Amino acid sequence: MESVFFSKITSLKIWNSPTQKSFFMQILVVNCGSSSVKAEVIDLSTGKRIVVMSVDRINDAQPKLKFSDSDQVLACPASGHEQALAFAFPKLIEKLDKNLLKGVGHRVVHGGKIFDEPTLITEEVEKQIESLYSLAPLHNPINLLGVRIAKKHFPDVPHVAVFDTAFHSTIPPKAKNYALPQNLIEKHHIERYGFHGTSHRYVAQRAANYLGADIHDLRIISCHLGNGASVCAIEYGVSVETSMGMTPLEGLVMGTRSGDIDAGIITYLMEQENMTWQQVSDMLNKESGMKGIAGSNDMRDLEERAADGDVQAQLAIDMFVHRLRKYIGAYAAVMGGADAIIFTAGIGENSASLRSKIVYKLNYMRAIIDEHKNKMLKFIGVEDVEDISASNSLCKILVVKTDEQLSIAEQTAKVIKASKLKNQAPRNIPIAVSARHVHLTQESVEILFGKGYQLTVQKPLSQPGQFACNEMVTLVGPKNKIEKVRILGPTRPKDQVEISRTDEFFLGIDAPIRESGHTEGSPGLTLIGPAGKLELKEGVICAWRHIHMHPDDAEYFGVKDKDIVEVRVENQERGLTFGNVLIRVSDKFKLEMHIDTDEANAAELNQGAEGSLVLTGAGGMLTKKKVS
Ligand code: ADP
Repeated sequence: MESVFFSKITSLKIWNSPTQKSFFMQILVVNCGSSSVKAEVIDLSTGKRIVVMSVDRINDAQPKLKFSDSDQVLACPASGHEQALAFAFPKLIEKLDKNLLKGVGHRVVHGGKIFDEPTLITEEVEKQIESLYSLAPLHNPINLLGVRIAKKHFPDVPHVAVFDTAFHSTIPPKAKNYALPQNLIEKHHIERYGFHGTSHRYVAQRAANYLGADIHDLRIISCHLGNGASVCAIEYGVSVETSMGMTPLEGLVMGTRSGDIDAGIITYLMEQENMTWQQVSDMLNKESGMKGIAGSNDMRDLEERAADGDVQAQLAIDMFVHRLRKYIGAYAAVMGGADAIIFTAGIGENSASLRSKIVYKLNYMRAIIDEHKNKMLKFIGVEDVEDISASNSLCKILVVKTDEQLSIAEQTAKVIKASKLKNQAPRNIPIAVSARHVHLTQESVEILFGKGYQLTVQKPLSQPGQFACNEMVTLVGPKNKIEKVRILGPTRPKDQVEISRTDEFFLGIDAPIRESGHTEGSPGLTLIGPAGKLELKEGVICAWRHIHMHPDDAEYFGVKDKDIVEVRVENQERGLTFGNVLIRVSDKFKLEMHIDTDEANAAELNQGAEGSLVLTGAGGMLTKKKVS
């Protein structure tokens, strides 16, 4: 998989990398619905679930509480969200290390025009979510109730709202607007908000990562096919069209929702059947779609019945497929082509026959399925993306497992981090210059300085436990020798000589650029000490410029061990940007960038004394990062 580059870290768009696992933190994700609540604690350094909790039938006399680590179903003593969660959350907390829990992310369905990104929940934000009740009367009030209850049980960590609609805020006016009287549009905030945004965003980024491409170079048609279903055109990283509209009713034929219909049917039925708006709404949302056509909203059931010759089941499937094919064609037209089609959610991830029917005859957009791969598809282990396109398909056809909870957790973590950064002055990274030096094994120390000799401390170095020694050696290369090269202690399991490129030319050797400790295949050198001579077979390297970081620093900068970053060093006359800087994270490290004397000279940083690490007055700013 290729690397992904990000823009300046302080202005990172928080949705740039839903799958980047750089935080040493756990996030609780709460999805509070009208009849059930799901809560998951996710460890973001691994993506693993620490615990999953569900409370079902929340309005029954005794709501049912379940945890992922047991088959036991507990009966909550009282009905309703407040009471059931007052019983459930303390039990969840018992299963956690509360110190690791750094925040709570809440799924909030409708962000209206107000929220176009995940947002830290303040009292003001709660009021704004309240102001959107009329746009999502079935969801927002319950979502906000979940926020308020969770805040009581988790008062010490930030809470973040992640909106289903936010990803679609980029849809342009020509696609967002409905052709209705402008005064009504304005009065009632009528526009295409779109839904399933968390899922579309997540699977699109996963697909880009899988393809080794930058999402900003791709045109993607994402098909989220669950009970509710929607399709989204993602052009160069942003949503430009989606099939759900002001409400989740528009678009595809769904489990129980009609999707697109002639609006004239509504007024006709209201008149002919004397129906109220509530009855019409219930009919369109709960009694239509595949359930309306064939009596079931379960695609497995419909496929089985269709295979047995059930005409209505077959019609429901055909309508589902036909409507989606229309949208795929339309979205290819909107974007002037597509580089990938993604299938996700219950039907998209599981039904090979549906996928096959949907992409049938898409050759005109150069999308060709490999039927064998499609039929044989099975996600194994941690795999979450599979390519089912034929080798000659220019448009990739991918099946991606969606994970909205993980996406919410990741977005929550980034909001928390960004809010912390906002309150902190930008941090400079101290830069230390490392002059040529030598690390030795105890055995080598004894060869050079005499039997039983122990290195002595000249002065401690900034990295805890490390020190410059009083002892020095002479380096002898094929061309020249360099005297008084300092040894750095303590002794190590391997000998290692770190020199600059200029030293290499002088000594007459060609040393590779390596991370400390990785000396395999490097050239050797002769070392001369007061008591003897040591012929090293290998061990001479030019150190890979690197930054030592404590895990807290890594969290601050949003990087992890082995990431590669760029660091800008400001200097009035010769400031420069160091590329390929290696991040090294350990709880034994202190924040400090190490460069060698050549590099310091290039940036005109003040030089250290011979043989040890010397801190300069300069500081580096981490500007870009590259993560795997
Ligand atoms: P939601 O989250 O919107 O409730 P899901 O993403 O769980 O929905 O998808 C539910 C749909 O996926 C149902 O129509 C179900 O029948 C369908 N589905 C699940 N597994 C399969 C399968 N193996 N074959 C066909 N359809 C499936």
